[in-house]
Amino acid sequence: MVLPFKHEPFTDFKAEENRKAFEDALKQVQGELGREYPLVINGEKIYTDDQLVSTNPANKSQVIGSVAKATKEHVDQAMNSALEAFQAWREWTPAERADILFKAAAIVRRRKHEFSAWLVYDAGKPWDQADGDTAEGIDFLEYYARQMIELGKGKALNDRPNEHNTYIYQPMGPGVTIPPWNFAFAIVCGTVAAPIVAGNPVLLKPSENTPVIAYKLVEVLEEAGLPKGVLNFVPGDPEEIGDYLVDHKDTHFINFTGSRATGTRIMERAAKVQEGQQFLKRVVAEMGGKDTIIVDQDSDLDLAADAIVNSAFGFSGQKCSACSRAIIHENVYDEVLEKAIALTKKLTVGNPSEENVYMGAVVNQKQFDKIKDYIEIGKNEGVLAYGGETDHTNGYLVYPTIFKDLDPKARIMQEEIFGPVVAFAKAKDFDELLEIANNTEYGLTGAVISNNRAHLNRARYDFHVGNLYFNRGCTAAIVGYHPFGGFKMSGTDSKAGGPDYLQHFLEAKTVSEMF
Ligand code: NAD
Repeated sequence: MVLPFKHEPFTDFKAEENRKAFEDALKQVQGELGREYPLVINGEKIYTDDQLVSTNPANKSQVIGSVAKATKEHVDQAMNSALEAFQAWREWTPAERADILFKAAAIVRRRKHEFSAWLVYDAGKPWDQADGDTAEGIDFLEYYARQMIELGKGKALNDRPNEHNTYIYQPMGPGVTIPPWNFAFAIVCGTVAAPIVAGNPVLLKPSENTPVIAYKLVEVLEEAGLPKGVLNFVPGDPEEIGDYLVDHKDTHFINFTGSRATGTRIMERAAKVQEGQQFLKRVVAEMGGKDTIIVDQDSDLDLAADAIVNSAFGFSGQKCSACSRAIIHENVYDEVLEKAIALTKKLTVGNPSEENVYMGAVVNQKQFDKIKDYIEIGKNEGVLAYGGETDHTNGYLVYPTIFKDLDPKARIMQEEIFGPVVAFAKAKDFDELLEIANNTEYGLTGAVISNNRAHLNRARYDFHVGNLYFNRGCTAAIVGYHPFGGFKMSGTDSKAGGPDYLQHFLEAKTVSEMF
């Protein structure tokens, strides 16, 4: 019997022994930087001359690793190996497949700080954020394994005299997993583990920003006993192989997390039936956000400021769930803004490999330039209340930035920035707070800070986001506790880490027998 799911605890870095263990892991990983990593197709490791070079966002000249680049021919080879592996993998029982994930979770748990240390270097995550990313990866492995054991039982149907009906779930066939870089371990774990435990081989194309930590998961699953061909690792240039992976006639599903632009492109392309394709492709597309915290006049203003600051600036705002809009009742607007600025002043920015750095560098030059542009746009659209500085001498540092007095339709109130920039706007009453909260094309996360029960009840139904939080920030969803996925242009609302997620990768089958 498998015990119920409990999430992986976070490391307490106040404890000397944990700090020491993390420092040791950082040293160990530092000694392993700069290595080469292969493609993995049908269990075979393939090195290529053409490579993706991953560098440290906080120290641009430091190479994390060089990763082989797959071509279209490699994609064909990987798909053939996946099709072949499917014949045997689909016959494994759900419990047998789940055991691979349980073992993988155990391996990662034993080497937890090492994985987090890779995230510090590869993705620029501060210690606590890296620790949360690794913990979430473990959670996905543990949670989906349990979910599959449950779904393996099928669902109950009614029988009639002389008629016996059953409802079972079966795998679909090979598909493609395309994750982003910002939860470079957790989202790779979740988006790979779910289709695999459901019985479907996967072609994993990691983000070009963070391919090394993705490779580490491939190694773990191999060590855990995953048969060859069930997970094929095909990193590459998305312009070269992205469409090809999506369009492939044998791609049964595309499990995508990333930007709105890429997600909608994948949706559109996947809808076209290719020559020889004998099924409709399924697309899970979890995309961007423009997430809002609203603060009611009757509310705990310290809690409000703390929720805004941590949700806006944790991991430099590079979370799909990050708060980038704070909409405040006019009677408490000045006070919340003042408290938020005071808290922001205390935040430390620097190289995240050092302890106690709250914010590291943003992921790359492209994001750095984009955020800088938005800071300029913000200066025209509103009033710069705090921050606005950037520095790219060694790494891509963007300091926490607060704009105030924005028009609800301003660009920095509407467009995803994906950096440490939050815009404040005021509203006259709760109706207007909600109206502004709902006025973007996104609908991912949101939070309401209020002591008014009637207002919370209204927000429960009228605040159009997939993940709504009351009297807390709008980030930090936990697998199995806060299933995650957005409405509107934030995506297909797949609810990662939730009880309905695995069905995206399964076909439900009704079998009716006459006795
Ligand atoms: P992105 O869209 O640039 O890239 C995501 C992935 O898509 C990468 O692996 C990339 O290589 C690949 N890709 C790019 N072009 C492709 C193409 N034509 N065909 C196939 N694949 C292609 O996004 P990003 O910058 O990696 O991630 C940041 C975005 O992800 C933000 O918008 C953020 O909000 C979103 N995100 C959403 C969630 C969620 O759960 N909703 C979670 C994390 C991040």
